[in-house]
Amino acid sequence: MNLSWGRIFFSFFICLMLSTTAFAESFSIKSLSIDSTQKNLLIQGTNPNYQNIKLSRHVLSSPLRVIYDIYDAKLLNPKNSAVLNNPNVTEVRVAQFSTAPYVVRIVFYCKDDESAKRITPTVKSNSISFNLGSEKDNYDHSFFIFKEDQTSPDIQSNVDYTAFYTNLNVIVDDGKKKTEASKPQNLHVAKPSAAPEPGWIQIPISEEFLARYTIMDIETIQDKIVIKGKGIISVASPFVLSAPNRFVVDMPFSRVQKPDLNKTITLSNGDKVRLGAFDAQTARAVVETSNFGAYNAIISPNAETLTIQKSNIVNAPVSNLTEVQSINQNNYSSKLILKFDKAIHHSIYKTKDEIKLKFYNLATPNEQILANFDQTKQFRKITSTPIEGTKNGQIFSIPINPSAKATIELKPDGKELTIFLKENVQKQGTVIIKKGTTVVIDAGHGGSDYGAIRDDVNEKDLTLELSQKLRDYLQKYGVKVIMTRDKDETLSLQRRSEISNEINPNAFVSVHINSFTRSDVKGLETYWYQPQSKALGQIVHNYLTLSIDSPDRGLQTARFYVINHTNAPSILVEVGYISNPDERKEMQTSKRQKKTVKAIGDGILLYLGMMYEQQSK
Ligand SMILES: [Zn+2]
Repeated sequence: MNLSWGRIFFSFFICLMLSTTAFAESFSIKSLSIDSTQKNLLIQGTNPNYQNIKLSRHVLSSPLRVIYDIYDAKLLNPKNSAVLNNPNVTEVRVAQFSTAPYVVRIVFYCKDDESAKRITPTVKSNSISFNLGSEKDNYDHSFFIFKEDQTSPDIQSNVDYTAFYTNLNVIVDDGKKKTEASKPQNLHVAKPSAAPEPGWIQIPISEEFLARYTIMDIETIQDKIVIKGKGIISVASPFVLSAPNRFVVDMPFSRVQKPDLNKTITLSNGDKVRLGAFDAQTARAVVETSNFGAYNAIISPNAETLTIQKSNIVNAPVSNLTEVQSINQNNYSSKLILKFDKAIHHSIYKTKDEIKLKFYNLATPNEQILANFDQTKQFRKITSTPIEGTKNGQIFSIPINPSAKATIELKPDGKELTIFLKENVQKQGTVIIKKGTTVVIDAGHGGSDYGAIRDDVNEKDLTLELSQKLRDYLQKYGVKVIMTRDKDETLSLQRRSEISNEINPNAFVSVHINSFTRSDVKGLETYWYQPQSKALGQIVHNYLTLSIDSPDRGLQTARFYVINHTNAPSILVEVGYISNPDERKEMQTSKRQKKTVKAIGDGILLYLGMMYEQQSK
């Protein structure tokens, strides 16, 4: 009897302790949001000590409800509910169920038992996402720190030429007055969403999760700017503007908590910093500097602090790269996961054809670990170079296709970074090309020059066959095509360039088949050399690699004669390896040839349309 009483008293005492003192350390829920598919509910908050969030689940009937209780959790807004348009769950209600102890209760109203079973939570250190029964793998938005949006400074044209269109519409502009219908559709306009309501009383239903990060404070420490906030910071690739010289960091899905943070601060080196809302969803920090582009935007391991500084030095324990892993999702998307033994401090920069990750506390990585992942269409290699003047600073360069959009996630312990690349694949695209547009097609080798030979298959025959088919393809779209050779004849490299230089076409494309001493090597390569040729190379290579199921061996530069001495934008494509038995066989099939011709042809057409649009502006 005594023992029993003692136990009750003891439990009561513990509960009291928890409810009065433990709360400040636990999970404070700041926002709830539902994504546009209405299949994911995201609960975000702060959890300063990264304690494990505890959840329990039970089911009640009539009406059928799945209930999750979150322990040691506080809801900063009183009550939330939303009616959903979801086949499994009709309504969600969230409320503070009790305060002694602190329990937040989430109630899902379900259609049937099957629906109830499908609700699955993913618990992270400061968020919980509930998948409400989508059968497909849901991409977890909860921790991305970099997400390319459509307002990226790379994409200024109203037609997105980095896209890959499975179906390309070509309109030939014959100089007559254009009708409305012939104009290309506005394929890439970013629509600003409404500002998030202060207080988060209503669960916002939006295309993206709004205000994932709230800037609480900005401070300067000597020449450093430290932006502190709650939630998960995400940054767009920093960029520089001139006159005056400015270093700009955009923070999408972020808001500035107090208007008095929107002010100009002068650093000890004389540079000026401004923080403010760029639009309803984006906070922007601008450093006006006399030292152009010399700042870094460094994300802390918990993704709550952004430090903007010139120095490449961060005082933090040295981390090691422990694993690199790739996950291929399909031809158009894959993930690359980088794992570290200690939390990393890093910056992200993305250009059209590269992602650069700057790690400020990383030891020189082991070459074996760095190279030890399966290549995907999106991830081919990582090169690591030390940051000059640092002992433990490394830059990872990852080449990417120009059409690829990047999302980067950081695990809350700061030890795992995932890069997700998805090609910008669209079904339908429209380009306008000018009447009289001319392309020179150069079938590699010929006559006494056989090119590479394997098993009675000659490069010169395959290149001629492909070039003729490519001519026919382009002519269908009104392009004037000149062939350097249209039969099996010997032709010098010099003559090939001369033919092009005499007519001065809009593009020059030389078609080749690769070979190597090792028969296991296969894949696609595109070469350019003169600067005016790079865009053509990027677009055609993008089309080739996304259309043909063979490894992407990269867009490269090489001083091949025909792309060095031809004045027009000129590229050389290597559309496969004759030395690889499988690829050799495949390249002789009409299926592979058709794919190759369409890929090169559509790439050329898109490029021609892009050039014409730029001219007519
Ligand atoms: Zn060749």
